Parts: sequence; C-alpha cells; structure tokens
Amino acid sequence: MSKQKKFLLQENEIPTQWYNILADMPHKPLPPIHPATKQPLGWEDLAHIFPAECAKQELNTTDRWIDIPEEVIEKYKFYRSTPLVRAYDLEKALDTPAHIYFKNESTNPLGSHKINSALAQCYYCKQEGTTNVTTETGAGQWGAALAYAAKIFGLSAAVYQVKISMLQKPYRSSIMRTFDAVVNGSPSMSTRAGKDILTADPNHMGSLGTAISEAIELATTTPHCKYVLGSVLNHVALHQSIIGLEAEKQMQMAGEYPDMVIACFGGGSNFGGVAFPFMRHNILEGRTTEFIAAEPESCPKLTRGKFQYDFGDEAGYTPLLPMFTLGHQFKPANIHAGGLRYHGAGMIVSQLIKDGLMHGVDIPQLESFRAGILFAQTEGIIPAPESSHAIAATIREALKCKETGEEKVILFNLSGHGLIDMSAYDQYINGDLQNYSISDKEISDNVAQLEQII
Ligand SMILES: *Cc1c(COP(=O)(O)O)cnc(C)c1O
Repeated sequence: MSKQKKFLLQENEIPTQWYNILADMPHKPLPPIHPATKQPLGWEDLAHIFPAECAKQELNTTDRWIDIPEEVIEKYKFYRSTPLVRAYDLEKALDTPAHIYFKNESTNPLGSHKINSALAQCYYCKQEGTTNVTTETGAGQWGAALAYAAKIFGLSAAVYQVKISMLQKPYRSSIMRTFDAVVNGSPSMSTRAGKDILTADPNHMGSLGTAISEAIELATTTPHCKYVLGSVLNHVALHQSIIGLEAEKQMQMAGEYPDMVIACFGGGSNFGGVAFPFMRHNILEGRTTEFIAAEPESCPKLTRGKFQYDFGDEAGYTPLLPMFTLGHQFKPANIHAGGLRYHGAGMIVSQLIKDGLMHGVDIPQLESFRAGILFAQTEGIIPAPESSHAIAATIREALKCKETGEEKVILFNLSGHGLIDMSAYDQYINGDLQNYSISDKEISDNVAQLEQII
C-alpha cells in the first residue's frame, strides 16, 4: 500500500475560531504593568498603542474560543490549509523509528507563518478607522507579511528593519517595498530612540528591541497610526493558533497524535500557534505530550534567562511584561536566524515554563544549519534559518528514539522557507559561520542592570 505523505483540509474544514489558551491556563500570567505607576494595565491603556480589538484579546482570560472575522477567513483561504507532511525521507536518513511530521507554514507567498496574524491585525485596524500602521521586523518575514496585509486592507505601512538583517537579507526590503511599505534600517536617525542608541553606540547594528522602540515612537507621534507586533504578545499567539488547530485535524487524518510538539522560538508566536491547541489536551484531559521550544544558543532566554518584569524594547517604551528575559539591553550576536534575536519570551510561555508545561532547548548556529541542510536534502524544502532550530531539536529527539527504539510521534512547525536567506547558506557552506555562546557573567551582568532600572 502506498503511504500517504501529505494531509490537507478542505476549505470548509478550515477552523473558524482561534484558541485562547489564557482561558485554560492553570495559573494566569501576571498582568502587564505601567512602568511609572506599577499599576496593572487595562485594555484601554494598551489601545493607545495597539488596535483596540487586539488590546482586548491581549487581556482576555475568559473566552476559550474567539471567532475569526469572516473577511480574515476569506484571506486565509488564499493559502490555507497548509500541508501537514510526514517526513519519511528525513526519518530514513536518520534511521529512526520515530514518526516525524511537520506543519508547513512556508507555503504562502510571503513564506512564513507571520501572515496569519498580519491579516488579523490589519483587518482590525481597518475596522477601527486606523489609516497607518508601523512595526519592527528582524529578518523581514514579519515586515513582508505586514506590508502585504496592510496593502490588501488599504493601510499605509512603515517598517523598521533591524539594520544587520537588512544587510544580510536585502530582498526582504524589496518585498516590503513591492507592497508600498516604507522601510527604515534600525537604529535610524528618524526617531529620538534611534538617535539616542546611535549616540551611545554609533556602530549599533540593531536588534528587535531597537526596532520596536522606533516603531512605537512613530505610532505615538503620528495621528491615526497604530503599532502592530508580529510576535511575543498574547493576541499574536491567539491568531497563530490556526496552525495547531489545523494540525490537530490533520494528525487525526494521519491516525496519530503527537508525543512531542517542537517549534523554534523568537518571541513565541509560531511555537504558541502550533503547541497551544495540543497543550489544551494536556491541561484539560491529562495528555502527556512534551512541548519543546528551540532557541539559539546565542540568545538563550528560555534556558538561561531570568523570570522578571522587563521592557519589550530597548528604549523602554512598552509596558513592563512578566517574562523570562536576558535584559532589554541585551545585544544578541549577529546570527542569521534574525527572527530569534530577541531578548525576552512571551508572558504566556514564561508562565507555562514556570508551571512545567513546556521547556526550552538551545541550539548552536552550526548545528541549526547542518539540520537545515539535511532537511533540504531529504524533504526538498530549504528552511528559514529560524525554522532550522526546530529541525535540529527534532533531529536530536529522533536520534534519541533510535537509541531507545521508541516509536515516538514528533510534530514540528516549519515556520518559513529560507529562499531569501541563501547568502547565509553560502556562508555556512563556505565555512564562514561560527557558533556564539554567552557566558553566565554576561547574562548576570545584563540582568543585574535590569534590577537597577526596574
Ligand atoms: C519571526 C519568525 C520566527 C520567530 O518568531 P516567533 O514569534 O517565535 O515564531 C521563526 N520563524 C520564522 C520563519 C519567522 O519569520
């Protein structure tokens, strides 16, 4: 009998509600607080910066299911469902008894999962009468998705792209500009935050933290302009739950249920997206699926960060968020997985780690590229350098299964393709890339600074 490789849903089987894990968490995250008053923030406070509906979703701890607006579902149909694929050839190359599945979020025209939330956020902006949106982007996947979503909902977009990533991945700026977005390298001289950062360090190559500061500053000083974010926040993970909800149905079609769910981790949106719908069965029904978030060795907030209130950005414009963090002024090494170069973890994930419902692993840069290339050579898809961290973690687990003979079912999320990251592959193949690890002292020095500020 021929083996089925790919599982897809019909259009009418695409989920019509997102899953909100906040409603089911055994301990809710601590609230975001105002940096000056130290008081918990209400959605009205957040709505000064964010679209109001997103601000409400951010703090919604009661509704387990939230309707996806019909117009967003219509746009989802452009590219959803995305395939769930059994990685037979990768399994064979690893000689593992594990069953490896991946959810392929790289198949939409923008190439990553980010579009799932970009469409939702731009839709709400449009509904609320916002005309301009601004945001940050690392490697540029979020900026590309946002530029596209803004265009189709008739909004103007301004994007601050981390300077190092802009140089490493020039074509992502081209994509954004194709959709009429204005793109600035961050830190830039166009904002006060950018000027301050460049004054202190003229060679600063940017981080997601610097770009977020600049985008928020633009949003708060421009009429009818909202700031939108592609990761970290609760409402972004909510929108991304479409990934796991589809995967749940598709795993059923495959006649299996995952023993492990793995995703790479920047701020947690693709991880939350694929993991939370499965995690609800652990919380509500006592299932024992293991959840693993794969972060880069050079930016290890989950495995080596400290749990405490911190800013989401470099300049300290955001509310204080309770999270595992390396300190908002942490400067991650210039690795190629630009989307993973962020100092903190989302509030939900941070609480889930404290509650033992999931854990992180850290992956050296060279191991991630080795894994990405094996995946390309077996499954025919060149993964984003971010996604390769999930592949590397999956390979580690599959090789453990080979040792023990266990036939575990592993599901990982392929968050994006790497076709605009080929210069990174060239560098790896030429032997020009290296690992970056950080010392305990660097981490504790950064976190100590934080304790003085906050
Ligand atoms: C942005 C991005 C990530 C990291 O962000 P998360 O919010 O942690 O998912 C990972 N992979 C790709 C392809 C990305 O674009």
